[in-house]
Amino acid sequence: MKNVLLLGATGSIGKSVLSVISQNKESLNLIGISFNKNVSRYQEILEKHSPDYVYIEDHDSFKSLCSKDKERYLNGDEELERLINRDDVDIIVCATSGFAGLKTAYIASKTGKKILLANKESIVAGGDLILSLAKANNTKIIPIDSEHNAIFQCLSGEKSTEDVKSITITASGGPFINASIQELQHVTVEDALNHPNWKMGKKISIDSATMMNKGLEVIEAFWLFKMNPSKIEIIVHPQSIIHSMVQFKDGSIKAQLGVPDMKIPIQYALTYPRHLSSNWERLDFFKCGDLTFQEPDFERFPSISLAFRALDLLGTAGTALNLANDITVGLFLNEQILFTDIPRINEVILEEHPWIENPTLEDITNLEEWVKEKIYNL
Ligand code: NDP
Ligand code: MG
Repeated sequence: MKNVLLLGATGSIGKSVLSVISQNKESLNLIGISFNKNVSRYQEILEKHSPDYVYIEDHDSFKSLCSKDKERYLNGDEELERLINRDDVDIIVCATSGFAGLKTAYIASKTGKKILLANKESIVAGGDLILSLAKANNTKIIPIDSEHNAIFQCLSGEKSTEDVKSITITASGGPFINASIQELQHVTVEDALNHPNWKMGKKISIDSATMMNKGLEVIEAFWLFKMNPSKIEIIVHPQSIIHSMVQFKDGSIKAQLGVPDMKIPIQYALTYPRHLSSNWERLDFFKCGDLTFQEPDFERFPSISLAFRALDLLGTAGTALNLANDITVGLFLNEQILFTDIPRINEVILEEHPWIENPTLEDITNLEEWVKEKIYNL
């Protein structure tokens, strides 16, 4: 039996993880969870899964619950660190959204445990730091972002990444795949949240619409697979059936396919290296229609180029881009800026932030204040 700590349990990834745990009760146990302030969703989780430990980031939400059970409810950085380091926690799922995930990924990377990583922002913001710590402490990171999980599966069993010619990250193209630059200026929050293939949290849905999600995934792939940026390509594949591919030097290409359902990469990562049975929908080749491919449009979706630029710069560039994007997505969701302002402002921050070559966690955290202030004064 493996004990799972699920960070970000009240979110979309959290829901899929809980479903996979329910289907694998004989081998997986939910020992603890975390969330920010969604107490009503938490009550549903409590009823069904009854986790022993519950870390709540938001202090008011913590206060509203903690008097009921002092042992179960935790709050504050020290308690979070203690929870992650508990001897009886075997697997840590990092599924918090946004930059907030950096703190947990940083602590988890030092544990020597197995981490399932959904929070790509933590790798984009602090990839060098987290992967060095994971290596030094023998922590196993398995990505559950569908593209990176696909690449992880394609590389599984291969002797050396030296044989890899390139990796191809597939992109659905999001809800505005065919929109003109003029149309993009006037899209509403509702339009942008309406992803054609995946049901996800708000932040990542907007990232998919701007294609910043692909940009973040390029940076994520760079760190996770130690892949030179010139070997990483993006192909728009609107059906989201091929989740990503690896091309080897001899011309052989491996791809991982399946219906777009996050439970598949999640179960594989939780029960790695097994592919255990499941009861969810399967891909039917006779019903899924044509699989099509097109080149990404860097002009309509400048976020992809920003990610490659961040990889040219390295140092704090990924951190700055990611921080800027967290804030601009929030401003767009509050209808304070236009959709096309998101990459425009992100670029200003990427180019103008006080760049540091080898940032510490403190440098990365301090940059947050600078970025916030700069954006609010633009
Ligand atoms: P959601 O917005 O649905 O859920 C986010 C979770 O994080 C919630 O539990 C939320 O708590 C918690 N949270 C938010 N802010 C904080 C904070 N400051 N401190 C602690 N916890 C916090 O996001 P998703 O599940 O869609 O995405 C989670 C991560 O996984 C993201 O990094 C995303 O990029 C990545 N990902 C998601 C995919 C998907 O299909 N959804 C696919 C691939 C990657 P509360 O509910 O209380 O606010
Ligand atoms: Mg993805």
